[in-house]
Amino acid sequence: MKPYDFAVVGAGVFGAWTAHFLRQSRASVVLLDAYGPANSRASSGGETRVIRMGYGPDELYTRWAMRSLPIWRELAARTGREIFRQTGVLWLSDDADAYLKSLCTVLAQERIEREELKAEDITRRWPQLRFHDVTGGVLEPNSGLLLARDAVQTLVKELVANGVDYIQSSANVPSGDGSTLRAIRSSAGESISAGTFVFSCGPWLPKIFPALLGERIFPTRQEVFFLGTPSGNADFRPPKMPVWLHRTHADLPYSLPDIEGRGFKIAFDRHGERFDPDTGTRVVKESSVEHLRGYLREHIPQLEHAPVLETRVCQYENTWNGDFLIDRHPELENVWIAGGGSGHGFKHGPALGEYLNERILHGAPGEPRFSLAAKQTAQHRAVY
Ligand SMILES: Cc1cc2nc3c(=O)[nH]c(=O)nc-3n(C[C@H](O)[C@H](O)[C@H](O)COP(=O)(O)OP(=O)(O)OC[C@H]3O[C@@H](n4cnc5c(N)ncnc54)[C@H](O)[C@@H]3O)c2cc1C
Repeated sequence: MKPYDFAVVGAGVFGAWTAHFLRQSRASVVLLDAYGPANSRASSGGETRVIRMGYGPDELYTRWAMRSLPIWRELAARTGREIFRQTGVLWLSDDADAYLKSLCTVLAQERIEREELKAEDITRRWPQLRFHDVTGGVLEPNSGLLLARDAVQTLVKELVANGVDYIQSSANVPSGDGSTLRAIRSSAGESISAGTFVFSCGPWLPKIFPALLGERIFPTRQEVFFLGTPSGNADFRPPKMPVWLHRTHADLPYSLPDIEGRGFKIAFDRHGERFDPDTGTRVVKESSVEHLRGYLREHIPQLEHAPVLETRVCQYENTWNGDFLIDRHPELENVWIAGGGSGHGFKHGPALGEYLNERILHGAPGEPRFSLAAKQTAQHRAVY
């Protein structure tokens, strides 16, 4: 097999966008995935993902989200797919929430459109929701959601049409010859040589690089529910229902409106237990359904007894604090690692691909927060 300029291992959102930008430089690129782009085990395999600009005080991720949204829109326009839905994103919180105050400041600095709302505005505009603990909120009217699985699969189809070779096969655990990785072997027995390798294997990164990342990326089990809404009831679809995030609740509930008849999506952002992305069972626990019903009773009474149409068990691939890991391998000079999406990475796929491309091809300086050196081994979530 011919040597490629670049081999990208993992066709989730990070790998697909990385391959896109590398290919734009006319390099030869091969993209591998063990189970398929945005497959059901992958973190990118969900139906929908939120794209919001607000990140509390964290200007870095606000700027990356701002950079990414138009690139998602361009993909949608090029391919004719409705990848982005502008549903609005509603932050719900209280007066003591410093995160929300900083979020408003950063959105104002960046000239991002927003509406600051009082509790009575929220009750009036969304009477189907009841948040007794919420005293105010912020609406990002131009944000919304991405059709995640479709977006990644559409992008990979476009990559193939543009000359990227896609191979559905698992790459072995790489072992370098001194300071360089010459080739990887696929599960089909092929040897794939490349000048540079990018490992964008999401929650599998600790399995690929156990010594390096076994204690630095923590995959956690996350459950997602899709609820059936009453027939003819538009309260839980756009334009009546935005994406919302309920920050005053300890379990950090968030919800996405019913899109394409899949149901009203609701989940808790609190980290679950450790999870194995290959073998973990993806059936939600009965106790979780009970817990959800309790939440619905209090906050969305119309849906207290709504049928659960579908569930998903996915995993976050958390770094210690939620900052991404995008860095060169410390021993193999032609190997890069991109991962650690930490439950918020999807929206940033385009910005990440562009950043990595600049680093690899043009030697752009690295952001210290994304470095391997900054990754600690004890969890302390700081990026939301
Ligand atoms: C329930 C849930 C909700 C989320 N909500 C949001 C949200 O609202 N907004 C947001 O921005 N983000 C969100 N995220 C986070 C986001 O989905 C992830 O950060 C992002 O999808 C990670 O992408 P990735 O490409 O790093 O990993 P993945 O999508 O997991 O891709 C890794 C790929 O590598 C492949 N692979 C692994 N090992 C090998 C190997 N040896 N050889 C070949 N291929 C291999 C896998 O098959 C897989 O396809 C959410 C995540 C979850 C689980």
